[in-house]
Amino acid sequence: MFGQTDIESLRFSYESDLLKTFSAKFGAVPLRGYYEAQNLLEARKRDLLGDAVRVTEDLLPDVHKVYQDCLSVLEGNYAGDLFVRQSKEYNASVFALGRKFDVLINSALLNDFAIDELRFVLGHELGHVVFKHSQFPVHDILTDNDGVSAEMASLLFRWSRASEVSADRVGLLCTGKLTSAVTALFRTSSGLSDIDENRVLRSFRKQYDDLEKHIREIDDSHSWIRTHPMMPIRFKAMELAALDVVSLRQQSRGFSWKGFRAIDRQIAFILEALDADAAPSPGQLTFSTVA
Ligand SMILES: [Zn+2]
Repeated sequence: MFGQTDIESLRFSYESDLLKTFSAKFGAVPLRGYYEAQNLLEARKRDLLGDAVRVTEDLLPDVHKVYQDCLSVLEGNYAGDLFVRQSKEYNASVFALGRKFDVLINSALLNDFAIDELRFVLGHELGHVVFKHSQFPVHDILTDNDGVSAEMASLLFRWSRASEVSADRVGLLCTGKLTSAVTALFRTSSGLSDIDENRVLRSFRKQYDDLEKHIREIDDSHSWIRTHPMMPIRFKAMELAALDVVSLRQQSRGFSWKGFRAIDRQIAFILEALDADAAPSPGQLTFSTVA
């Protein structure tokens, strides 16, 4: 339905800015080698075939259809299986090499989430695939601290959070509805279900506004917002982008790249302010790129 150029334009441009900053300061951005990636992909496939359950049309027709729908939205012969494993944690992950990948989703998501919310989660994972996020071994670098300066770690951590905003846009593209994307995010962060979607939207808006106000007014000691700053920001990034992403999905003429880059600048400003002195903590990420 969409060419690769269209999808690429959805990438949160702050992601690319951070990689440019990284290159300027430290030389080339470390990329995973092809053979290393191939080995990881194969090892992960073996683990999934051994320890998880593959979602097939026969086993889970609804989920399988939603996953295939998302793949067809992306266009471009992406080939990847979907696996489910038992876990109460609302999370999913993916590892990709080019167009080959496997998505793993925890059973709690399949049991508890509405179909349109699942579309968002699966689309988010596929977003990491189309934007080739797995080629940056950020998680490995951050967990193996040898030779990583604080500034380097901070840049990589910021990139990692920015990559979530990019992936969310593909999630939004797959679900086609802001409310489903937002309630999926809300349920993931709060663990609460059955809350009216208007209340959820109001809650996120208010929390984002408070966060923004706090950042603008107070330069130091905003430690309270550092704990889980991403959810209201991911919400805001989606709310601002929603009309454009949905019109892209419907292939109407409402899409404006210019407006889109302005949204990027607004979200990047908030992330910059938050990340200025935030300590790297890869454990905070939800819907990760690597298992
Ligand atoms: Zn993610």
